[in-house]
Amino acid sequence: MDKNKAMVEYLQRYGVLRSDRVAEVMEMIDRALFVPKENPPYLDSPMPIGYNATISAPHMHALCLELLKDHLQPGMRALDVGSGSGYLTACFAMMVGPEGRAVGIEHIPELVAASIENVKRSAATPLLEKGSLSLHVADGRYGWPEAAPYDTIHVGAAAPEIPKALLDQLKPGGRMVIPVGDLFQDLQVVDKKLDGSIISRNETGVRYVPLTSRSAQLQNS
Ligand code: SAH
Repeated sequence: MDKNKAMVEYLQRYGVLRSDRVAEVMEMIDRALFVPKENPPYLDSPMPIGYNATISAPHMHALCLELLKDHLQPGMRALDVGSGSGYLTACFAMMVGPEGRAVGIEHIPELVAASIENVKRSAATPLLEKGSLSLHVADGRYGWPEAAPYDTIHVGAAAPEIPKALLDQLKPGGRMVIPVGDLFQDLQVVDKKLDGSIISRNETGVRYVPLTSRSAQLQNS
């Protein structure tokens, strides 16, 4: 059997993957294209992608996609901060479709270049060619104002507190998922209501790499 499909079925049995829409997109975007070759791509574990960064574990990708799926409808706009391997940006792009916009930002230029190559080999390549999916070198703490406001903001690295620029770039009615904390973090689900007020809750405890400066991340690498 297709090993990527077997991973998706494992995540369904495990209970984290609940909706058909998220299962479909995880079936279409083969995780093996985003994991460096020396690592087992379908194991439910984060894997190193170089530069002190990791591609998140499949169950974390599934959880974030489930939390964000209503804010990833066709035509919507999504920002993926700390896009790393490009995997989630590609999933977001498939969900919002050619009329939507999926932007990944990552501060290590080599990872951005590699993520573009990964996406080119994936089912999301037409979206990259058309420009509804794009990956940029930028400091994610400032977001990506050019395509704001966003229905979805996903942050793939842990921030000591929610960066104000990201809250500002979240659309009223939009949702952000962000790990907040130091070494151990809470995965926070942050909803901006239509009147602009913010409500947030903790989904679960997580351990992500920090949202930091490039020089701090590359120390000891
Ligand atoms: N969702 C990605 C996670 C990658 S790990 C994936 O599954 O592939 C988190 C990423 O955040 C790393 O690639 C790291 O380089 C990046 N990062 C850390 N601080 C950042 C910052 N200030 N701006 C942009 N990217 C950052």
